[in-house]
Amino acid sequence: MAGTKALLTLENFINGKFVPCSSYIDSYDPSTGEVYCRVPDSGNEEIEAAVEAARAAFPGWSARSPQERSQVLHRLADLLEKSLEDLAQAESRDQGKTVTLARTMDIPRSVQNFRFFASSILHHTSECTHMDHVDCLHYTLRAPVGIAGLISPWNLPLYLLTWKVAPAIAAGNTVIAKPSELTSVTAWMMCKLLETAGVPPGVVNIVFGTGPKVGEALVSHPEVPLISFTGSQPTAERIAQLSAPHCKKLSLELGGKNPAIIFEDANLEECIPTTVRSSFANQGEICLCTSRIFVQKSIYSEFLKKFVAATRMWKVGIPSDPSANMGALISKAHLEKVRSYVKKARAEGARILCGEGVDTLSLPPKNQAGYFMLPTVITDIKDESCCMKEEIFGPVTCVVPFDSEEEVIQRANSVKYGLAATVWSSNVGRVHRVAKKLQSGLVWTNCWLIRELNLPFGGMKSSGIGREGAKDSYEFFTEVKTITIKH
Ligand code: NAD
Repeated sequence: MAGTKALLTLENFINGKFVPCSSYIDSYDPSTGEVYCRVPDSGNEEIEAAVEAARAAFPGWSARSPQERSQVLHRLADLLEKSLEDLAQAESRDQGKTVTLARTMDIPRSVQNFRFFASSILHHTSECTHMDHVDCLHYTLRAPVGIAGLISPWNLPLYLLTWKVAPAIAAGNTVIAKPSELTSVTAWMMCKLLETAGVPPGVVNIVFGTGPKVGEALVSHPEVPLISFTGSQPTAERIAQLSAPHCKKLSLELGGKNPAIIFEDANLEECIPTTVRSSFANQGEICLCTSRIFVQKSIYSEFLKKFVAATRMWKVGIPSDPSANMGALISKAHLEKVRSYVKKARAEGARILCGEGVDTLSLPPKNQAGYFMLPTVITDIKDESCCMKEEIFGPVTCVVPFDSEEEVIQRANSVKYGLAATVWSSNVGRVHRVAKKLQSGLVWTNCWLIRELNLPFGGMKSSGIGREGAKDSYEFFTEVKTITIKH
């Protein structure tokens, strides 16, 4: 383990200043298993200071025109883009993902989040109607809500944090953000850019620490009327309980158990590499990753053979290796949890076709204690098995056969989640029919993870409440008022 002196030590960012904390949490480099960073272990005191700063900054920031706020967001996007390489290296070290993925997805998307909301905030209009018979004109006004509490997870740290900060401040709110205690570094790096971008003190406050301590202090604070949360379903339940007495506005983006439905007329040349990517990208740690693959019986054997061969080509390597497709999982506890699912499947009589317990992973000596795992394909598994029902959030996917369209829709819908699905078929009519019947907030057909930020993003059933996107985020981060004028 590195000596304490060498450790990177983060500080909270409150009222435009870095503030040390009285206690810290160790943060691990997932590729070595070594502590490399100390994250503030904040609590009530830090939340009180952040609320005071956010409250004081609100009148000035919310009174600015959308154009003025937009310029600040654009400047922040430019500064993040200039630091792209440093941020990508830091995100990879903190999270375990490959530098390539951080460089090509996480950080560019964080930049895009600010540019996108800097632009979209300029284009909202309000409603107006007339009631001539009573000489009335009605219109709506939208105003920022106040102090927004933003809580984000560890899988796409800066990407998901900025997906909340950008629309919240674009709409004129001030924010208190709490990134995951497991991945706080890039949020802290972003704080260093805020002043130069022209973000006034108190508009963006970032408070680090654990969910039960600082997360709950934020959620329970009576002066924070809105919580935007991305994370797991059990945490969302707790947040909903704590918010209920205050009637807070809630946006909950939660987990998934996402099906891929592959019909016999699918183009396997495209479907197989895309389904390998949708199962294992970012170590399978994306809420949108595929984890149940339903394949029509007539092509089942061919698909399975080719899919397993392609999975074996998906290289697990140290995050800095440019040829690696996958890096390390987030933590030792998470690695053990993901492995335990494979063990349970084996005990139930399922077959593990490649990966965990079947193939051998070779790593350099200094990475032997890292949290690496091979991409794993399971088959001969029942729909009732926990591997087919629960979110594993790791590089594990199950492949099962189906006969008919009606049957597969019913099976795909038979889980508590409803976040994302993919459908593979060259029959346009079928694609529309199936997409319409799937209980899923997002359906990709013949592709995966192509995002249009203007359109609603979010899940149904236990995958969440609310949607995010240009219009949806604007509506969430503002309160609407209806005004009637009699003339
Ligand atoms: P998590 O719920 O454990 O933690 C998420 C955040 O909530 C962290 O910042 C954590 O510190 C905080 N938190 C934990 N307990 C809290 C509490 N009691 N009060 C307030 N805050 C608390 O989730 P995770 O393990 O970090 O992330 C993985 C989960 O996130 C998966 O379920 C995944 O599917 C989901 N996710 C969903 C989306 C989406 O857009 N739908 C995107 C990414 C991840």
